[in-house]
Amino acid sequence: MIERFLTQTHFSSEEDFKNNLHFIVPENFNFAYDVMDVWAEEQPDKECLLWTSERGEEVKTTFRQFKEQTDRTAAYFLSLGIGKGDKVMLILKRHYQWWLSMMALCKIGAVAIPATHMLTAKDIEYRNQRASVKAIICANDEYVTTQIANAMPDSPTVKVLVAVNSMAQVGKHPIPEGFHDWHEEWPKAPAFHRPDFVNENGDTMLMYFTSGTSGEPKMVAHDFLYALGHLTTGVFWHNLDENSIHLTVADTGWGKAVWGKLYGQWFAGATVFVFDHEKFTAEKIMRVMEKYHVTSFCAPPTIYRFMIQEDFSKYDLSALKYCTTAGEALEPAVYEKFYELTGLKMHEGFGQTETTMTLGTFPWIEPKPGSMGKPNPQYCIRLVKADGTECEDGEKGEICIDTRNGKAIGLFKGYYRDEELTKKAWHDGLYHTGDLAWRDEDGYYWFVGRADDVIKSSGYRIGPFEVESALMTHPAVVECAVTGVPDPVRGMVVKATVVLAKEYKDKAGDALVKELQNHVKHETAPYKYPRRIEFVDELPKTISGKIRRVEIREKDSKK
Ligand code: ATP
Ligand code: MG
Repeated sequence: MIERFLTQTHFSSEEDFKNNLHFIVPENFNFAYDVMDVWAEEQPDKECLLWTSERGEEVKTTFRQFKEQTDRTAAYFLSLGIGKGDKVMLILKRHYQWWLSMMALCKIGAVAIPATHMLTAKDIEYRNQRASVKAIICANDEYVTTQIANAMPDSPTVKVLVAVNSMAQVGKHPIPEGFHDWHEEWPKAPAFHRPDFVNENGDTMLMYFTSGTSGEPKMVAHDFLYALGHLTTGVFWHNLDENSIHLTVADTGWGKAVWGKLYGQWFAGATVFVFDHEKFTAEKIMRVMEKYHVTSFCAPPTIYRFMIQEDFSKYDLSALKYCTTAGEALEPAVYEKFYELTGLKMHEGFGQTETTMTLGTFPWIEPKPGSMGKPNPQYCIRLVKADGTECEDGEKGEICIDTRNGKAIGLFKGYYRDEELTKKAWHDGLYHTGDLAWRDEDGYYWFVGRADDVIKSSGYRIGPFEVESALMTHPAVVECAVTGVPDPVRGMVVKATVVLAKEYKDKAGDALVKELQNHVKHETAPYKYPRRIEFVDELPKTISGKIRRVEIREKDSKK
């Protein structure tokens, strides 16, 4: 497959990749037709999707079946009046129909807006208005359908609502009034005829909201080439091929879902493994990984932090060959522990909803624990200091993407209908990620923190990640977040909010505070040690499991 889109398909070294990664960009590229339907012809019986649920249900789908089903879904959407350019919100959790909907919308040139099921009526209304949403396809979940129904009076553009039962609910769970019944209507959809013209490369294919880790989620618009951009994410960073069974842990409402559960994986011809579950536990995930012989796994660091608390001798994960992580910084202590337990070196990646995988440890790069890896040559990465000049090795700066010679395949178009916000992040030919890092003399990039999270204390600039990494090497600490709290003398002081391991929960007190402080002083430069430490049961997080330091800061400033 990938030989259609790359001039060279195998790379043996970093140099080779850097010099020889060249895309062949088709005109009017459409992932559903140009990749999925081609697989259906070439490898009709190959399994592309292995969907399972918490209740033990299983659906195995081949490329041929997937084509038939996405054609039917496209015809169904057309019959509902959904067409080219229409915005369609998908609140489908990890239901099987999310994959059908994503590809069907691609086939008719409509714009998919996947969103999380945690949205309130107000959130939905806001999104409907901001994006002029025409249709919503949602899980038939009482909370979700109620929120949608409550949002309708102020959502004048929304004309179509469809509710989808998950497998176990079919026939049992009545569809609320005002919603189409997917299971009733979908089988009766007419035959699908591919339209003569669907899209140009620059048309909008997908819109995703960012995680909202540092503020309000931003609406990111992607063109049809975005899918092509993920070829490197799945084929090279995830290191997948037709024999792989890949699991990425991500809600479909998070951009990470299209990083790990769709485009790149299917460029590789891998089987996308889906576990449709409600609440995450490390045990549940590890059980299904064992049962289905998952070979490749990707999850944000937070998932690994909980996995390493498990007793690995209870699971047979011998099929697992390759592990990746992105979304947050991975502390070296977590990397080391996971390696000790599995013998696998985690391959980290860095990127955003606005991008595909941008920096990472590709298979030919030896991971350095705590480092994100090296630039994906698809992007022209620059590290830029506050004065606008480029960093030397060892200097901290903002990770930027240079677009003076054109927009990279995979980079977003802009924040939808928000020119001001787009300009703020993307001006003078540089897209600013808002993330700070430094580069070592071997070309590895090291995360410092989000620009907003960096703490200015007594004239020092302290990146939370360093302090968090130091804390994480102490056995008492499962997770932590380091923030600045206002201080009359120092401007800011470093504070750590800490979740303790089970065995330490009853030791929370002054002695442990002292012990952790001394521990940090030994692990890193002493001026960074947290002068304040608070013990909590859990950290505030986004739906994608990211720590919301902003929430801790806001709470502290109100005190
Ligand atoms: P918002 O922009 O709404 O605050 P968000 O930035 O968390 O939310 P995402 O697009 O999901 O939304 O996440 C991208 C961000 O995740 C990056 O900008 C970076 O801060 C962080 N990130 C991703 N990968 C890594 C990594 N390997 N190391 C450190 N941080 C990472
Ligand atoms: Mg962001």
